Formats: sequence, structure tokens, C-alpha cells
Amino acid sequence: MQTRTRGQRSWHWLVMLLILAGCGAEQQTEPATEKEIADLILVNGKVLVVDPLFSIEEVLVVRDGRVLAVGDASITDQYSAAQVVDLGGKVLMPGFNDSHTHIEGNARRYIDLNKVGSIQNLQRLIQEKIDLLGEGEWITGYGWSEDELIEQRRPLRADLDAVAPNNPVVLTRAGGHSAVANSLALALAQIDESTPQPEGGVIEKDDDGALNGIIRERQEMIERLVPQATYDELIASLEVNLNRQLSLGITSLTDAMKTPEDYPMFEDLYANAELALPRAALQFQWHDPVAIKALKARVGDGSSMLKIGPIKVFADGGFTGPAAYTLEPYANQGSYRGYLNMPRADLVSLLNEVHDAGWQMGIHAIGDAAIVLVVDTLASALERNPRGDHRHYLNHFSMRPPEDTMVTMAAQGIHITQQPNFTYTLEGRYVENLDGWRLQHNNPLRSPMNQGITVALSSDILPIGPMVGLYAAVTRKGMSGEVYGADEAITMEEAIRGYTFLGAYLNREEKIKGSLEPGKWADMIVLSDDLLTIPHDQILSVQVEQTYLAGQLVFERTND
Ligand SMILES: [Zn+2]
Repeated sequence: MQTRTRGQRSWHWLVMLLILAGCGAEQQTEPATEKEIADLILVNGKVLVVDPLFSIEEVLVVRDGRVLAVGDASITDQYSAAQVVDLGGKVLMPGFNDSHTHIEGNARRYIDLNKVGSIQNLQRLIQEKIDLLGEGEWITGYGWSEDELIEQRRPLRADLDAVAPNNPVVLTRAGGHSAVANSLALALAQIDESTPQPEGGVIEKDDDGALNGIIRERQEMIERLVPQATYDELIASLEVNLNRQLSLGITSLTDAMKTPEDYPMFEDLYANAELALPRAALQFQWHDPVAIKALKARVGDGSSMLKIGPIKVFADGGFTGPAAYTLEPYANQGSYRGYLNMPRADLVSLLNEVHDAGWQMGIHAIGDAAIVLVVDTLASALERNPRGDHRHYLNHFSMRPPEDTMVTMAAQGIHITQQPNFTYTLEGRYVENLDGWRLQHNNPLRSPMNQGITVALSSDILPIGPMVGLYAAVTRKGMSGEVYGADEAITMEEAIRGYTFLGAYLNREEKIKGSLEPGKWADMIVLSDDLLTIPHDQILSVQVEQTYLAGQLVFERTND
């Protein structure tokens, strides 16, 4: 019905244009009654377009899932739509693009520990799982952090044994660089006091030489024993976990660690989902180039909903292990400088190999030594084998490297996706491992941007909601309220651009999304408060009230 109306109107308009052209009249003499038909008009808002000028408008018009027009109140007269939404002065902005996150389906045995709060609560959750699954079943979990536990210490083997003497338990710390296991899990993995330290990791012991249950970086020594979850169990949970992103205002994301074997489940889900899902790009590790090429031959780059992202390469570890590879020793840990994730020569040849294969890379580099090595390697690869608009980027870029490394990055177009929320969430890790200038300029934002480097923002699920990242980007505050390197702060406008447009840019999708300019997908959110004017100390409580994907309302906050 709408199509016919539109067709008639177009014909009308064409005749009128011909007449007007003959008269030499101007276009705006179009009668007010000739309204263009749209699907949705949002009026009376504060619309952050996130175009190059960071324009702020009042009205946004949607047709066929895309932004048809955006402008001041006067453009309302030019359109009509079945659905008109009064924003009541609230902010409408592009949906967030979390350019480095991890979303997966979880097994029934899995416990989400992101908001566990205390070791006591963690023990209660384990007990509930045992009651659900029965004795003998493996129990897994992810997301604890000693900084957020009221006991202000890590859960240890004895804490788990106290509640789970007959179930093997392994719980991964937030960030994924260490885990704690109970006695039964360690025994099943045949790890005891006499086990030699594994390459690239640490089996921790207490002062008496007994295992405390913590394993750094090599927790797969235990996790490999956990039985695989079923397909149905995982895909149902994946759907729920992806759908939940929309409630955080995340309309696009890059999952930073998948394998080509994961793709069919995502394809299956995106073809058959009952819940709304955000747009997703999946990064694959280069451990199996043949599988990656075969996948690409089958699906191409994917679609605007689900696509293949850049290749993932790990250069070093992180500060939760801690295993970030640094130029100078860590604070108070002798000569310890962390380490590369693989022998240096292997990393160099891997980066060259992936570059030569024509792929874009998103490379995990946290310590300044890892950043310098990766940038130098990319720069020489680009000189040897130039490629325009390669868009290689460093993920994390946590420690601020020497100035000339940033100059090289700007010159070679090597970008960054960074997690400003780390400044907040990982404060305790940084204070323990870094000092002085390094601590103050950790997770730098202003300095790389001043060098002309593109800095997109993301969460790495620590935690996943964008408000923590926006808060820390503009305040540089840790969880304690302490400010770290105020000169590395950026403005809210810059932070919003980093968390929207620049994420789309990293995935080569800036022409179809990331801002609310006409022609782009109407992926957008309505906020409870104005991020541009709200006092900084209230940013953390700003909520996403509505989320639209391609002009469809896919989430609405209810007051329960
Ligand atoms: Zn990550």
C-alpha cells in the first residue's frame, strides 16, 4: 500500500519538477501538502549525528531501515509516517559499536561471575550448580576479579574445596589470563606440587610450596578436561547473550576470538533467531589459515548482520596474569617483564604471513615492548609489501609506547581499539604492576589521538556496558576515584565517536553505519540522560532506554 502511494507521489513530483524547471523556479516551492512517505519519524530530540562536525539535530526520519533525513524541526513538514515518536528532548545517538568484545553461548555448568561481589556469594553459586547438576559434574565460570570482591583477595583452591569437595571446579578470572581450580580439578589434570612450570604460564604456590589453585595463562591444562556442551545448549545461550547487548545500546560488535568452526553456529542463529540480535563481526585466530580461507570462499565477507572480521593475533598477555610484555621491569617484581605469547621470530613471521595473505589484522598488544615489536614488524611488512587502506589495528594498546612508535603508527595508518574502562576496572592490577609515568599514561587516549592515530573504543567485557568506558575516557578515574594521567583524558564527543563511528571504521563499515547520516542503517539508541551535559560523576548511571536496529525498536527499558 505504501509503495503505491510512494509511486504516485514520485510521478507527481517528476511532473512538477519539469514544470518548475521550465519556469526557472526553485525547488523549495514544493507545496507543503506534498509530503514524502517515511516509516518512522523521531521528533523533539537531541540527535547526535556523529558526523565529522558532530552536528546536533532535532528530527530523524527513517525509511526502509535507514536514515532518510536528519535535521531541525522544520524538516518535519516534509515527511509523513505511520509512526511518529516524540523523544521529549532526550538524546538519540548511533548505537554503540563494541569493537572488541567476547560473546559466546554458555554450557549449563557455567556460572557468570561478573557481578559475584564476594567469595561467599561465589561459594553459594557453586553450591546452586552442584544442586542443579549433581555431584561429579564439572563446574566452570568466568568473570571474578579480586578488585570487586569484598574480601579484596582472589578466591583460592581452599575456598572452592570448602563447597565442592566432589565436583571439579575451574573459574576463570575476568580478562581470561588466569583461573582458579579446586583440588579435584587439579588432581584430574594431574597437576601437583612437583609439576614443572608450564611454558608461557605459572602454576602458583603459596609460601609453603603448596598449590593455591591459581594458574596463570595456561588454565587450558585443566579446561581441556571439561566435557563439551551440546549444540542446543550453546546456541540457545548465545542467542540470549547476544540479544542482551541491545539492552546496553550495543547494536554492532566485533567478537575478538572465534574460530572458523564457530561460524556455522552464528550463521544458524542469525538465520533462525527469535530474539533480535546486534550486527556481529567475528575475528579468527590464524592458527588454521586453510580453514579461514575455506570459510571465506563459502560465505565471502558475510552480510551487514554477520560477517568475517579481521584476523586475530596475540602478541603478549595482560596485566591480570600478569603477562604483558614490557620494556622495563614491572614494579616490585625483580626483573620480571612479562613475555610474548610465542617466540619472537614466530610472531614476526606470523604477522608477515597474515599481511602477505591480504588480510586485515587486529592484534592483541598490551605491554609497551609488545606494542613496539608489533608496530615495527607491521611497518617493515608495509614497506616490503605496501597495501593501501590495510586498516591493521592494535587491540588494547594499554601501555603508552615511546613517541616514535606512535609517529610510525600515524604514518603507516596503524589504528587502535582501546578499552578506557580498563583504567577503571583494572586499577588494582595497574597499581600493583606499574608505577610513575607508566601508571599515569596507561591506556593513553589523548596522546595517540594527538599523533593522528585513529582510536576506536571497546569494552573487552571488563565490564561490557559502554558507560564505564565513556566515564573513564573523560575522567581517567579508577574504581577508587583516583585520577590517572588527566592529560590522557578525551572529550565526551571524542569518546562517543570512538565508541560508534570509529568502531564501524575499523570494520570497513563506516559508509553504512556508525553515524546517523542519511543513507546509513538506523541503528540508534535513546538515553535516559544527556551524556554531553550530565556531570561526569553521574555517567555510570546513564541508561539506554530504547534501542533501534535498522529502524526497528528491538529493546525498550521498562520500569520494573
Ligand atoms: Zn579480548
